Amino acid sequence: MTRYDYVRPHSLAEAHAMRAEIGDARFIAGGTDLMIRIRGGEVRPTALVSLRNIEDLAGVEVDGGARIGAATTIADVARHAGLLDRFPALVQAARRVGGPAIRNAGTVGGNLCNASPCADTALPLLVYGASLRIEGARGGREIPLEKLFKGPRATSLAPDEIVTHVILPAPSPKATAVFLKKGRVAMDLSVASVAVLLELDGETCRSARIAAGSVAPTPIRLPGAEACLAGKRLTDDVVAAACEAAMREVSPITDVRSTADYRRRIIGVYLKRAAYGLLGRVTP
Ligand SMILES: Cc1cc2nc3c(=O)[nH]c(=O)nc-3n(C[C@H](O)[C@H](O)[C@H](O)COP(=O)(O)OP(=O)(O)OC[C@H]3O[C@@H](n4cnc5c(N)ncnc54)[C@H](O)[C@@H]3O)c2cc1C
Repeated sequence: MTRYDYVRPHSLAEAHAMRAEIGDARFIAGGTDLMIRIRGGEVRPTALVSLRNIEDLAGVEVDGGARIGAATTIADVARHAGLLDRFPALVQAARRVGGPAIRNAGTVGGNLCNASPCADTALPLLVYGASLRIEGARGGREIPLEKLFKGPRATSLAPDEIVTHVILPAPSPKATAVFLKKGRVAMDLSVASVAVLLELDGETCRSARIAAGSVAPTPIRLPGAEACLAGKRLTDDVVAAACEAAMREVSPITDVRSTADYRRRIIGVYLKRAAYGLLGRVTP
């Protein structure tokens, strides 16, 4: 059995001090990802520094944009009325994460920092243009969310850095967004998923932001598909061209959950479904 010390700081300063004192320590929030990796022998920290008792890291403020504490649970995001009103695709994604027990323990910060290609909340946060507030032992910084992901389970965070908040700018009044996820069964990790945000003027798309999950080493944006839609009237041909571009842009793998070919097709089908849904049209 793996043995480790478990400490519960009450402030960021205390968390940094404890980590510095212990040496080979890992931050832990809900533990729903990290404990599985520890039990599997994949990571072997000598200590875990819990982020769950640090008040600053929990809670959601919505005021045009939003500021979400990294240790806010996925369940709290899933039932937040203000987020549902301003950032519905984020709430849709949170509601699709695991089952109730996972949502009650798992946090937004953990979902992002675990850097899984299938992290559900990453996709809507990418299309809503989220950035991350990060506090290290020697100072803080803010980065766009897309700069966090470096590969499967790899981030740009230094070992002493804690993500404290997810910052969301106020969405344009013309923006409308949706999250779609294909799992094998209910409460499953995604086989493939998309989040799509369109800024619409009637049937004309002023700008498009598209993110996809489980189809590359990290959650990714699809700039080629976005360019196919931006500035165009969304005819069937335009949407079809964007779907083709999206399928070319992803680089899925075949694994226990699905084949590369199926994943690629799902991206095309879901982008089409998302675009028609946001336009209020029936998918042909
Ligand atoms: C049965 C099951 C089903 C699941 N289903 C889904 C699903 O459908 N969709 C999905 O996206 N995920 C799913 N997950 C994965 C997991 O539940 C989520 O990724 C969850 O949000 C992780 O949050 P956590 O707080 O538990 O992270 P933890 O396990 O505590 O941490 C994960 C990683 O992030 C680091 N970390 C955590 N918080 C911070 C922070 N604030 N700053 C810096 N580093 C930090 C930790 O050091 C660790 O490396 C599932 C997991 C299980 C076990």
